[in-house]
Amino acid sequence: MSKRKKHPDKDIEAAVAYAESKKWTFKDAGKSAHAWGMLKCPKNKKDCRCGEFCITSIWSTPKNPKNHAKQIVRIVDNCIYKDKESGN
Ligand SMILES: [Zn+2]
Repeated sequence: MSKRKKHPDKDIEAAVAYAESKKWTFKDAGKSAHAWGMLKCPKNKKDCRCGEFCITSIWSTPKNPKNHAKQIVRIVDNCIYKDKESGN
């Protein structure tokens, strides 16, 4: 496990930590000036919503950090929810 940098906003940091607790992977945005980082879904499957919805950018300074944090949590929850539901 590599050490991740901490997000300056505590709400977003909490959301990122939450995503990590669900096995999501943090990726440093590197060259991107806008994004702080990215979160990737642990399930790399087509029946998951990966590729589009299961990758999310984390902004360094969103206009509304609380909303952005909520959005991150929602994306994570959606994926996990789907995962649980797909027991057909
Ligand atoms: Zn997913």
